[in-house]
Amino acid sequence: MVSKKKSAVTHTAITADVAVIGAGASGCMAAVSAAMAGADVLLIEANDKICRKIYATGNGRCNLMNLFMSKECYHTGGGEDLSPFFARFSVQDHMAFWESRGIRLHDRQGYVYPRTDQASTIAEAFEKILRGLSVKIVTGERVNAIDCRVPGMEGFAAQDRHTLFKIETAAGNRYTARKVILAGGGMAGPQYGCGGDMYGFAVQSGHTVRKPLPALVQLFSDDKALKAASGVRCGAKVTLYCGKEALCADSGEVQMTEKGISGIPVFQISAAAAKALEAGEQVLAEIDFLPELPEEEWEREVERRLQEDRNCMLSVFFLGLVNRKILDLVLRKRGLQAEKKATGLNDADLAGILADLRALRIKITGTGNFAQAQVTSGGVPLSETDEELQSRRTPGLYMAGEMLDVDGLCGGYNLQWAMTSGWIAGKGAAK
Ligand SMILES: Cc1cc2nc3c(=O)[nH]c(=O)nc-3n(C[C@H](O)[C@H](O)[C@H](O)COP(=O)(O)OP(=O)(O)OC[C@H]3O[C@@H](n4cnc5c(N)ncnc54)[C@H](O)[C@@H]3O)c2cc1C
Repeated sequence: MVSKKKSAVTHTAITADVAVIGAGASGCMAAVSAAMAGADVLLIEANDKICRKIYATGNGRCNLMNLFMSKECYHTGGGEDLSPFFARFSVQDHMAFWESRGIRLHDRQGYVYPRTDQASTIAEAFEKILRGLSVKIVTGERVNAIDCRVPGMEGFAAQDRHTLFKIETAAGNRYTARKVILAGGGMAGPQYGCGGDMYGFAVQSGHTVRKPLPALVQLFSDDKALKAASGVRCGAKVTLYCGKEALCADSGEVQMTEKGISGIPVFQISAAAAKALEAGEQVLAEIDFLPELPEEEWEREVERRLQEDRNCMLSVFFLGLVNRKILDLVLRKRGLQAEKKATGLNDADLAGILADLRALRIKITGTGNFAQAQVTSGGVPLSETDEELQSRRTPGLYMAGEMLDVDGLCGGYNLQWAMTSGWIAGKGAAK
């Protein structure tokens, strides 16, 4: 852990100018940028190989970045403006970084991937670039303590005026460095080596941590009616409500499950849901199963349906609007079955069912866990770092990537943040 306590250990040998903890996207980029700026860099990774999580990104294709950028694509706990960071290492800089090294990219409606459509390309390219820059790579060693020594402390050479970090790993090895970059990720994807270790180091060096919560993850509900639609994938718009307030919305392919809802639109609203649930709020997801229908057209459709012959089952009366299982779900929530005759229902009942197809409300009771989440919401507030992502509490300590309280939408935004923050922290630490 990062502690400023006095110890009997005398630090003499400097293993590296800059030690980077964690060889994910942000750590590799930080190591590259520090080495390019002339620093002697040590990169320490707990896994047996670097970039373990990168291999899993974008369903194995690695959605590296997105050509559409706006401030709405990111959440920060303190509402901080990320544009100064992206001005220093933009999407274009990121693309140029890879293309200038022979890694061709291609985009699908703004979502950018390596031309090979293989995430392994990025992982292998990082390895090649790091070795080319003579970065010392240590794998299979989990850092379990960082001792920060500031000038004037016992055991500190009189002529030294800079902070010195002593790093210990679970393997029993010790390293020293003038600067440390914490780049060990958040808590999402513990199966890739991220267990939240960085928060402990940050706290012990004077930082706070906003509660880490899973994001880009499915939402759970205890609504028993959901079972009726389990397995359906359909185009829909999902709006998240906290009490009466609509917090956010997204459209696309929604996946219905027995225990809740999933799919990209659900992922996009999941960080807000996790925060609202954490705050003890009532959270509802309102699903529009016909989002493409303009209001006027829908009104005509409702009018027409209400004039139709009702001497048929409800499944026939509502035929052709939505997947039959979605109709079953809507009916089940009203205590009805598709086999019931429409004659038994009045205009208000039938209009109510049609309205539900456009705005079905499901109570959200939880989110998937960190092993299911793609990213962590929460972490060390950006306000506790300077514009180079150096700690305002412990000089010489830098932070990058998911451990900071920044999370992006699904679509390449999180890797872009990891690369941008890694680049900036590496450059700053190399000074
Ligand atoms: C399945 C999945 C798919 C995703 N797909 C995409 C996508 O397509 N596009 C996108 O933009 N984002 C995607 N993301 C999110 C993105 O991968 C992360 O936000 C990003 O990789 C975070 O980078 P990082 O460097 O901060 O942390 P990580 O990539 O998590 O890397 C941290 C590294 O630090 C190491 N480490 C941790 N603690 C220690 C320690 N004590 N000592 C030594 N090493 C340590 C870990 O082993 C790990 O290798 C996806 C995430 C997941 C889980």
